[in-house]
Amino acid sequence: MRLRNIKGAREAIANDKYVINEPEKLKGNWKSLFEGDNPIHLEIGSGKGQFLTNIASLNPNINYIGIEKYSSVLYRALEKRREVELSNLYFIRYDAQYITSVFAENEISRIYLNFSDPWPKDRHAKRRLTSRQFLAKYEQCLKKGGQVIFKTDNLMLFDFSLEEAEAAGWKIESITYDLHNSEFVKDNIMTEYEERFVSEGKPIHMMKIYK
Ligand code: SAM
Repeated sequence: MRLRNIKGAREAIANDKYVINEPEKLKGNWKSLFEGDNPIHLEIGSGKGQFLTNIASLNPNINYIGIEKYSSVLYRALEKRREVELSNLYFIRYDAQYITSVFAENEISRIYLNFSDPWPKDRHAKRRLTSRQFLAKYEQCLKKGGQVIFKTDNLMLFDFSLEEAEAAGWKIESITYDLHNSEFVKDNIMTEYEERFVSEGKPIHMMKIYK
């Protein structure tokens, strides 16, 4: 997602107390940002922030960090975040391909990938957030048994992700090609993209994998 440039978005983000501006400095020490010793969950490509704002409100005992590449999109997420009183949600404006510069081994308990960009051309496969290259980076930051939960409407991307995960030795904890007609829907939190696809009648595919 790329929104039209919002004037002043970069500055507003840099000055927001819920944005970490030099995230590399917290590598290995993210727990110090939050009260207590609660697990840390990430959403990579957090978009306009609906998913994280809702899940963080429902789970005060989990700490959340959203990673978003674009200032104009993160700006919208920060607007959403201001609508609720939360101390367990922070954001970083960052390209997830450098995630291992920001998080140390065993620092993260779960990663959400919601409606990641499909990069349909074969020569761009490495850029998909579920490619084996990205999965190897996630493995470096996740605790043993920590999960990646991936949702998409894109069947080609979903099947590609499944193949990549299996090739890289990840195990499947749950999988469905139709989340909204499955037992897993009761725990589901909708994202902006998901609301749109569901309203168009498209099935949502979901996998939960772990190493
Ligand atoms: N997760 C949201 C949802 O489900 O409504 C947004 C989905 S949107 C299709 C994908 C988002 O991922 C965009 O906001 C995009 O900027 C972000 N993104 C893509 N590649 C990224 C990367 N390498 N690092 C961080 N964010 C990324």
